[in-house]
Amino acid sequence: MIYFDHAATTRVLPEAAQAACQVMTEDYGNPSSLHALGKQAAQRVEEDRRTLAQALGCQPGELYFTSCGTEGDNWAVRLAVHLGRHRGKHIITTAVEHAAVLEPCKELEQQGYSVTYLTPDRTGRVPAEAVEEALREDTVLVSMMLVNNETGALQPVGEVSRLLRGRRSAALLHTDAVQGFLKVPFTPKSLGADLLTLSAHKIGGLKGSGALYIRSGLRAEPLLRGGGQEKGLRSGTEPTPQIAAFAAAARLGAQRQSEHIAYLHDLKAYTLDLLRAQVPGLTVVSEGDAPHICAVSLPGRPSQVVVRFLSDRGICLSAGSACHRGKASHVYGAMNLSKAVRDGMLRISFAPSNTREEADALAQALTAATRELVAAGR
Ligand code: PLP
Repeated sequence: MIYFDHAATTRVLPEAAQAACQVMTEDYGNPSSLHALGKQAAQRVEEDRRTLAQALGCQPGELYFTSCGTEGDNWAVRLAVHLGRHRGKHIITTAVEHAAVLEPCKELEQQGYSVTYLTPDRTGRVPAEAVEEALREDTVLVSMMLVNNETGALQPVGEVSRLLRGRRSAALLHTDAVQGFLKVPFTPKSLGADLLTLSAHKIGGLKGSGALYIRSGLRAEPLLRGGGQEKGLRSGTEPTPQIAAFAAAARLGAQRQSEHIAYLHDLKAYTLDLLRAQVPGLTVVSEGDAPHICAVSLPGRPSQVVVRFLSDRGICLSAGSACHRGKASHVYGAMNLSKAVRDGMLRISFAPSNTREEADALAQALTAATRELVAAGR
C-alpha cells in the first residue's frame, strides 16, 4: 500500500510503540499511587513531559496532557473566553480552522459571543492585516492555526502576536499547531502564543493523545474536575502509554527535524513537478508552505471517485480532512475556487517514509484516472 495521507494520521513509530508497550506491560503503575510502581510511573510522566517540552521549546510546567488535539482546541477556546469574560465577547478566528476550533466558536455564538471568521485567499492564507482590521476593544481571543491541514498553508501567527502587542490588545492568542509541530520550526515563544494545541498521532505517537501549552502566568481553569491530576486542571488518571509514545515520537522527530523538513520539501516539489508535467488537466491549488501537505485538483472529476479509483490501485490519499467524512470541505469552500476545482480536490500529504518511486506511481495512477474516468463518462 502506498500512503499519502499522513496529515490524517501517520504510522506509529516503532520506538513510540515500544515505549507504550513497556509502560503498558512493565511500568504500569498509576502515577497517583504511593507505592514504588506508582512513583516510577509518576517519574516517567514527568520525564516524558520534559522530553516533549524540549521538543516544543517551552517549560515542562506549561504542558498539560490531553486526550487529543480536539480536546486541546476546545479547552483553549473555552479557557480564553472564560479568562476574558469581564472584558468582552468578541472572538477572531479563521474560516479555515479545524472543526475542533470552529464548533466551540459556534457554540459560543449561541451564548451571545460575536465571532469574526476571517476568509483566506485562493491559496488558503489569511493575512495578518485581516486580524488587525477585525480587532476590537472587546476581542478576548484570536485563534489562528499554524499550518492548515488541507492546504499546508502557513498562517502568520507570529505577526498576529506582534500586532496584538503593538495595539496593546489584551486578547489571548491561541494557535492550533497540530499540523505544524516538527514540520515547521517554531516555539510557543517565537510565535507569541498564549495557548497552543498539539496532537500525538500526527507525529508518530498514538491516537487519542495530545497536549495543550498554557503560557506560564495564565491563570488556567480546570477542564475536568476530579482527582486533581495535571496540577488540578485536567483530572483523570494519566494515559501513561500514550504519553510515553508521544514523548518518544517527539524526541525522535526533534532530533531529525531539519533533515526531515529538507527531505519533505524536496519530495513534495518533485511530486508536484511530476503531476504538473504528466497528469492532463491537473491544477495545483496549494503548494503548501509546510513541507508535508499540498492540494491539487482534477477539475470536473469528483474527488470521491478519484480517491476510490486510487485506493483500488493501492494508493491512499484524501479529498481533504478525514473529519469531513465525505461532506464538502469548509476549507476549500472558503477559498473562492470554482465549483469544478472544488469538487475535484485531492490532498496529498507526505512523511519521511515516502519515496520518489511512490510519487511516480501516484502520477501514473492519476494519469490513468483522467483517462479511465473520462472513458467511463464520470
Ligand atoms: N487540528 C488540526 C489542524 C488537525 O489536523 C486535527 C486532526 O485532524 C486536529 C486538530 C484534531 O486532532 P485529534 O485528531 O488529535 O483530535
